[in-house]
Amino acid sequence: MTFRSHMQTALAEARAAAARGEVPVGAVVVSASGAVIAQAGNRTRETNDPTAHAEILAIREACRVAGAERLPDHDLYVTLEPCPMCAAAISFARIRRLYYGAADPKSGGVAQGPRVFSHPQAHHCPEVYDGIGAEEAARLLKAFFEARR
Ligand SMILES: [Zn+2]
Repeated sequence: MTFRSHMQTALAEARAAAARGEVPVGAVVVSASGAVIAQAGNRTRETNDPTAHAEILAIREACRVAGAERLPDHDLYVTLEPCPMCAAAISFARIRRLYYGAADPKSGGVAQGPRVFSHPQAHHCPEVYDGIGAEEAARLLKAFFEARR
């Protein structure tokens, strides 16, 4: 089986989020067979919901599609290092592999901050692969926040 990255789809969701005035973060959930079953970008402003991060929306949709509250054998791609809330949701969902793009020194919860998956209370830790598509993800975020100033 050859590895196929779905980060380009996540980046497209991040760009779509920026176009809606949302922080440009995109996420994709891929099933065991390699099919994209959910994709989402941030919608916190649109829905007045501070939990409407791309990862949460993608996991909710994937669980709906799968008809299950857990997604073992599923992988999640996200353009930015997940925050602590999303990292916890990824753990609860039993995601198999987490691929993320840019590091987030300000709000990340995986490689810095609370390091949710390294915490003794984390009942499930996905395999984590970082830095995929990181440059493009960081560029989108930088352009977005510069335009806000
Ligand atoms: Zn988050």
